[in-house]
Amino acid sequence: MFFAGIDVGGTTVKSTIMNEFGRIVYQSTIGSVKGDPDQLAANIAAGLSGFRSPITAAGLSCAGKVNRETRLITATNLKWLEVPFEAIMEDALGCPVTADNDVAGALYAESRVGACVGEQYVAYISLGTGIGGAFLVDGKPFRGYNNTGGEIGHMITHAGGKPCPCGGKGCFEQYASSSSMTRRAGVPVREIFRQVRNGNPEMIALLDDYVHELCIGLAGIVHIFGPHMVVLGGGIGSAGEILVSRVREEMERNCPSLPHSPMPLFVAAQLGNLAGSVGGCFLAGDMVGVPIHVEDMDALLKARA
Ligand SMILES: [Zn+2]
Repeated sequence: MFFAGIDVGGTTVKSTIMNEFGRIVYQSTIGSVKGDPDQLAANIAAGLSGFRSPITAAGLSCAGKVNRETRLITATNLKWLEVPFEAIMEDALGCPVTADNDVAGALYAESRVGACVGEQYVAYISLGTGIGGAFLVDGKPFRGYNNTGGEIGHMITHAGGKPCPCGGKGCFEQYASSSSMTRRAGVPVREIFRQVRNGNPEMIALLDDYVHELCIGLAGIVHIFGPHMVVLGGGIGSAGEILVSRVREEMERNCPSLPHSPMPLFVAAQLGNLAGSVGGCFLAGDMVGVPIHVEDMDALLKARA
């Protein structure tokens, strides 16, 4: 049996096909299409057409708000308002399709095979162009009404601060997303971390400022959810320990109220850019009652970009 996991973002769409033993048998990355879900579905299907065996089921990790009752998806960065994308993809692929939010999908993958296996209380923070959040509470995904919770990027961390496309002022993601960092540095995230490793004092100061901003938001999240583990994912999370160690120090320095309860464990996500599509594969397997058991974890991790 083969399961497709499809990570649908505003810029790219990454698809992974796995068998029921968690072996990746096919991967495809295509450019995204805004405002035309039928065209996007056709492009995704074309991207998967190089795989010749029938796909049993597919799971979408999709940007935006995924209403799991109505099966309609609203995603600003895809220019979708209540699009029945699960049904559109079922027609395009000819198999059953299920969907969840992309950050929820990434957390699901990390909780099955990545950074937070066996954890019951997790905050997963996706630090990319924007900031997304997904949470495990009592071992179950926290969803909010109609699966609209977790929009931590639009939590206000600076009252009356920088304007955000959402209409708010001072949203967390205006201060702690990768775009906020690269805007200041004038170089991509990867380059910032390379220069930090080389000891460039300017970039170290910039990273420290960034971590300070990040921890303002994290402090609020930790106070509300009381996670045992905080997983930092997305483009910036992939920097790993160089980021995570600074976050630990900053949280201990600037969150004096937290030591009353134990400080959560801060860790980097493990699945990198595979998390969303791998989470989609797991969702697909669950949907048809064939939970995927990954037999060779090393082979899976090698497939990361
Ligand atoms: Zn906002």
